[in-house]
Amino acid sequence: MSIAINLTEIKSSLPEDVTLVAVSKTKPISDLMEAYEVGQRIFGENYVQELVEKHEQLPKDIQWHFIGHLQSRKVKLIAPFVSLIHGVDSLKLLQEINKQAEKNNRVIDCLLQIHIAEEESKFGLDEKELEEILKQLLDSARSDNNNLKNIRIVGLMGMATFTEDQNQIRKEFTYLKSLFDKYSKQNTDNWNLKILSMGMSGDYQLAISCGSTMVRIGSSIFGARQYQ
Ligand SMILES: *Cc1c(COP(=O)(O)O)cnc(C)c1O
Repeated sequence: MSIAINLTEIKSSLPEDVTLVAVSKTKPISDLMEAYEVGQRIFGENYVQELVEKHEQLPKDIQWHFIGHLQSRKVKLIAPFVSLIHGVDSLKLLQEINKQAEKNNRVIDCLLQIHIAEEESKFGLDEKELEEILKQLLDSARSDNNNLKNIRIVGLMGMATFTEDQNQIRKEFTYLKSLFDKYSKQNTDNWNLKILSMGMSGDYQLAISCGSTMVRIGSSIFGARQYQ
């Protein structure tokens, strides 16, 4: 099994307007380099420390996406270089990302994570909480001292229930797509939804058929993960 072959096959099967995030969590630098050498430049990581170390060791033209659950106190470690944070699920976290982005003189792009799965364990906002965050952003964009000007919400992200039931997964992805369409109509400096991040190794084809524009694929590229 070869990473280069897996990656090339998956890439050629994706529609042109779908972005591939190669999810490399737990995988060694040599595996990421193999993907890099066949042209992959976007990598997704779940753990802050691991992301920081890989960023230090790997070529600087890689775009690093943070796709895990981010704790506020760790934002400062990735703020200097992260290119997209997928899993934002509270205003408090957004405020911290804004603060650290400002310190680094940058605007950090974020996706809001929406809870679409049946499992309680998965993170994410419901529609009401999404609306509250949108309202805050609209208010601050309108005010003279916009206090959220160093973040930009550029899309939504979601994870479907872990199940074999394709209808269930389709229902969840379709729901997320409907929220995406509804809330893309709003547009301000810090709210401009262009990315719909849904689909992993097991369900990315279905996610694409439901309107995904960004898939996060790990094990189908790098092989199964081993956790200690
Ligand atoms: C690990 C992970 C993935 C990739 O999962 P695979 O099934 O290995 O493709 C995608 N998204 C998130 C949020 C993850 O944590």
